[in-house]
Amino acid sequence: MARLKTFRIGGIHPEENKFSAAKPIEVFPIPEKVYVPVTQHLGAPSSLLVKRNDTVKIGTLLAKADAFISANVHSPVSGTVEKIDEIIDASGYRKANIVIKVEGNEWEDGIDNSSAIIKECNLSAKEITDILKEKGIVGMGGATFPSHIKYMIPEGKDVDYLIINAVECEPYLTSDHAIMLEKTEEILIGIDILKKASGAKKALVGIENNKLDAIAKMQEVAKSFKDIEIQPLRVKYPQGAEKQLIRALTKREVPSGKLPIEVGCVVNNVGTALASYEAVQKNKPLIERVVTVTGKAVKNPSNLLVRIGTPVKELIDHVGGLPEDTGKVISGGPMMGKAISNLDVPVTKGTSGVLMMTKAESKRKKPLNCIRCAKCVSVCPMGLEPYLLQQLVDSERWEDAELNRIMDCIECGSCQFICPSKRELLDYIRVGKARVGAIIRSRAKR
Ligand code: SF4
Ligand code: SF4
Repeated sequence: MARLKTFRIGGIHPEENKFSAAKPIEVFPIPEKVYVPVTQHLGAPSSLLVKRNDTVKIGTLLAKADAFISANVHSPVSGTVEKIDEIIDASGYRKANIVIKVEGNEWEDGIDNSSAIIKECNLSAKEITDILKEKGIVGMGGATFPSHIKYMIPEGKDVDYLIINAVECEPYLTSDHAIMLEKTEEILIGIDILKKASGAKKALVGIENNKLDAIAKMQEVAKSFKDIEIQPLRVKYPQGAEKQLIRALTKREVPSGKLPIEVGCVVNNVGTALASYEAVQKNKPLIERVVTVTGKAVKNPSNLLVRIGTPVKELIDHVGGLPEDTGKVISGGPMMGKAISNLDVPVTKGTSGVLMMTKAESKRKKPLNCIRCAKCVSVCPMGLEPYLLQQLVDSERWEDAELNRIMDCIECGSCQFICPSKRELLDYIRVGKARVGAIIRSRAKR
């Protein structure tokens, strides 16, 4: 058998711990109240369109994208707007949330919430892109970048490949795996639609080889679609990072500081392909998503289909409650996710998982001196020298940090994971990136 493809440099193999891999998607009950953040995407905040005591239906537009990079927000439930409140979200910042008291189950007219599959799509690329914008579709792998922007292809650029990220290389997470098994045809129609929107000649879907059932099912259903190729990939973290996935599937290298379009690629997550299908073919805005709720000590790790705005605490109660041994709760996976300090935070468009880490897993060891083993260098998928970047940040040598490409760091955490001295490499690099980024922005303004 031919050796499976993967990216060229670096990478690690953390324990997979995908406890919910064989679990079917369970529809989570609609909560009594939802807390819908006005902004849950990368880019400018959306403008609020509702006020206290307004009645809304499922799919009512709550907040509108006014800026170029922004996304619409729709109501995930029917009911009454109780208040607009400032609530600390998973990012740790206070943000405006629309609190809706749920009443009934009324949908806006024209949304098809049936399970009937619609394959035929005769819309133009521009019409598809407009629908992605209108329905508030964002990248569902966690980045939450508004999807329609990716399909506004700059003049003079051609797209050879639409790359679909179905890698799910983060340990513990299984929501993409679950949708590939249960929503296979809808996903492939979504990919076909996005391929048309991008003008790509071919779609390549990268799936790591630890999801053999999903690979087999996607390959079988893809036979009835033209120019969609399902590519099994070797298991290696962080293969789901954009540049690494492009390298693995096409051997093309995105240059430093450039976007995938520079090498003729557009990348979207497999969950985004499903949301795009629902938006374009069923007129359905992005109001729900599959969330993996899991952990080593969790009684019943699950893949739950959850309405946006549902408090994380309710998901935790549903899978057996917060284990006594919990040290940390993470939104997302253990490598790139963020710790949440408050279990009342709501599920947003970018919540791929809720991970309850045990005390042993979350305990950080005391950092020791660097022993110059270069392990951090050997695993860095961006070819950086993390030990050096840490030292440059520590001594506030911002210019040198920039010269040593600190801004190329994709914050995958591989260096910190592998370091035998348990040095806090990524923590330092994040601080350095924020500082160097600010210097670059102020230089551009001059
Ligand atoms: S892995 Fe840790 S100990 Fe080894 S060179 Fe990098 S920072 Fe130093
Ligand atoms: S976190 Fe940054 S520096 Fe560390 S391995 Fe990943 S890309 Fe390299």
